[in-house]
Amino acid sequence: MPTGLVGDVIWPADDRYDSSRVVFNAMIDRRPLAVLRCHDPSDVQRGIAYARHHDLPLSVKGGGHNVAGNAVCDDGLVLDLSPMKTALVDAAKRTARAGAGLLLGELDRSTQEHGLATPLGVVSLTGIAGLTLGGGLGWLNRKHGLACDNLVGAEVVTADGAVLHANTDTHPDLFWALRGGGGNFGVVTEFEYRLHSVGPVLAGAVSHPLQAAPEFLKLHDELVASAPDELSTAVSLALDPAGEPVITVALCWCGPHDDGNKVLEPLMSHGRPIFSQIGPVPYTDWQRGPDSGFPPGRLHYWKAGWLRDLTDAAITTLLDCLQTMPSSFSGIGLQHMGGAAARIASAATAFAHRAEQYDMLILSQWAGPADSERNIAWTRDTFAAMEPHLADAVYVNNLGDEGQTRVQAAYGANYERLAEVKRRYDPDNLLRINQNVAPAPA
Ligand SMILES: Cc1cc2nc3c(=O)[nH]c(=O)nc-3n(C[C@H](O)[C@H](O)[C@H](O)COP(=O)(O)OP(=O)(O)OC[C@H]3O[C@@H](n4cnc5c(N)ncnc54)[C@H](O)[C@@H]3O)c2cc1C
Repeated sequence: MPTGLVGDVIWPADDRYDSSRVVFNAMIDRRPLAVLRCHDPSDVQRGIAYARHHDLPLSVKGGGHNVAGNAVCDDGLVLDLSPMKTALVDAAKRTARAGAGLLLGELDRSTQEHGLATPLGVVSLTGIAGLTLGGGLGWLNRKHGLACDNLVGAEVVTADGAVLHANTDTHPDLFWALRGGGGNFGVVTEFEYRLHSVGPVLAGAVSHPLQAAPEFLKLHDELVASAPDELSTAVSLALDPAGEPVITVALCWCGPHDDGNKVLEPLMSHGRPIFSQIGPVPYTDWQRGPDSGFPPGRLHYWKAGWLRDLTDAAITTLLDCLQTMPSSFSGIGLQHMGGAAARIASAATAFAHRAEQYDMLILSQWAGPADSERNIAWTRDTFAAMEPHLADAVYVNNLGDEGQTRVQAAYGANYERLAEVKRRYDPDNLLRINQNVAPAPA
């Protein structure tokens, strides 16, 4: 192993080995040759040099939450960035420099001490690194754009071991690719984000039973189509503890609360909800609200796609599938994307899919391997039933191990430009354990 490391190396004989190779998705069971716990860019440089010298597979771990499990690899070196937790907030400039090992909740806590935040995701235990590099959909994206839209710069160790600073002026091609192109272009050691004033938000949820679902989903769809950017919503179709289908809209309003109450009144007062609650909530509390639904140790299998139109036929299909869902831990999510995130041109960053739409995610999770077969089969069947309603496109951060056609669908019209950038910064495809963009031919 390289000398001069600030961090340390975990080998298979180490007591910490098994915990060091665990990722969020318990379906993943990979056995790396070693895990290098990186504390600074020089550790990353040394790890890259070592992997190159010994021709080893190399994977990069931020928060370890990606469902595909590409943070870890078999028989190779894992660069574990989780020790890199620095969060430096410049409240006057409204920026934050964030170490690549931070989780969403950790960065939000630091920025919220100043009444500020950058758009991230909706579960506080997710890593900022993978989330931002793939795009980053969350509670603030209709008002302030995606996580990647709020990136103002990044410190990157490239495949040749150079430490670069990428922003709109310096290495703009690399900076473009980092905003939606995933972990293909270098190991990002620090992200610099633009911050916004975010006070306590108006947040809550409203749930309806199956028979009321079509009307409720239509109402929600019409509301978000014309709602102010301050509103972000996420629909979930799930089962209650008794196994009964429940359709819930969780929401977050980041503007003046009186205005939000007025906008949301038609949704909150509609019909006879089985649950309805909305009120002021500290932003960090709302953002960790769903955490308990995703405990460690569960097995996951996901299929996803962008749903441009929530037609009656799509609703019928979703509700039919929900009724055969085998696990009460699972759900079908429709995270709404629009507003500021949808007004950015598709080619302005690597994140191509900018329409007003839903990120439809069939999220299956279950407790033990005995249930794997039927949960995977249900997920695939549900996706096949929904496929005619979906765009030929998918959010890269929702992809499992699904093959190159789906990877290209994730990068969409930006794929070829990404391949050019890949050739410039990683011509040998050292960083290939990811949703891979192959380098364009020289
Ligand atoms: C419970 C849960 C909730 C989620 N909620 C949301 C959400 O609300 N919004 C949303 O947009 N997404 C969400 N996601 C998806 C999430 O964005 C992705 O799983 C993301 O990849 C997680 O980032 P990570 O750093 O934790 O992942 P990791 O598994 O550590 O990394 C994923 C991949 O990113 C690359 N990578 C990671 N760090 C670096 C780095 N520093 N430099 C270069 N490449 C790197 C590597 O290729 C790696 O394989 C959620 C996922 C889960 C499991």
